[in-house]
Amino acid sequence: MSSEPDIARVHAIIRGKDWPTALAAVCGQFPGAAVFSTSFGLEDQAILHALAQAGLALRVVTLDTGRLFEETHALHAQTRKRYGISIDVFFPEPAALRRLIAERGPNGFYDSLENRRECCRVRKVEPLTLALAGAKLWITGIRREQSEERAQLAPIEWDEQHGLLKYHPLLDVSETELRRFVTLHDVPYNPLHDKGYPSIGCAPCTRAVAPGEPARRGRWWWEDDAKKECGLHVQNGRLVRRKESDS
Ligand code: SF4
Repeated sequence: MSSEPDIARVHAIIRGKDWPTALAAVCGQFPGAAVFSTSFGLEDQAILHALAQAGLALRVVTLDTGRLFEETHALHAQTRKRYGISIDVFFPEPAALRRLIAERGPNGFYDSLENRRECCRVRKVEPLTLALAGAKLWITGIRREQSEERAQLAPIEWDEQHGLLKYHPLLDVSETELRRFVTLHDVPYNPLHDKGYPSIGCAPCTRAVAPGEPARRGRWWWEDDAKKECGLHVQNGRLVRRKESDS
C-alpha cells in the first residue's frame, strides 16, 4: 500500500503552522482514525493538552508494562481528572508475560540484549500493535533532540509494520520551547523530570542523567547507545529515516 500521496498531503497541511495548529489540522483529516500513544512524558503531556484545547476527541492509548514508576501512575490519574478523558490502557498478554519471567527471570533484561529486547517485545511492542489496530494515523511525542537516530526522522512517515501514517508533531520543538509551553499552560507533568529524568520509561530501565548528558543516556544505560530503542519506533531493526524528497 503506497502512502506517498498522504505523506505529501500532510506535509502540505503542516507547512508554516505552529505545532498545536498543525496537530489539530492533521487530526482533522483522520476523523475517528487517529490514535495518540502516551507514556506520560513531558512531550506527551504537551500534546494531550493541545488536543484537549482543540477539542479533539481522538483515541488516547498507553502501555502499562507492569514496571512503571509510581509517579507515572499518579500522573495518569491526575491527567484523567484535569482533561476529563479516559485513556485506554494496554497490558502485556498474560501467557507471554508468564513465559518471559519463567524463562528469563523477573529482571532478565539486565543479562543480555536479547533478554532486554524480548522483555520490551512482550511488555511494549505486542501491546502497542493491539493498541494501534484499525488506526490510520499514529501520533507520537518524538523530538529530534532526543537522540542522533531520532534527529534523522521526518515529521510524517509511513509505518510499514503497523500499516499506518506516523506523525511526530513535536519533532522540531526544542526542550526549551517544550518546557515554556508546559509552564505557560500549567500542564501537569511527571515530577521525575525535575530530578534529572528527561526520558521516563520502566523503573528498572530508567535512571537520572547528569546536566548536559544526552536524554537517552538514562535509558538502558548498561547498553551501547546505538541499541537504545525499545522497538516501538523501529522497523526491521532501524528507526524509519527521512527520505530525500521529504521536506
Ligand atoms: S524498558 Fe525494561 S522493564 Fe520495560 S519492557 Fe523494556 S526491558 Fe522490560
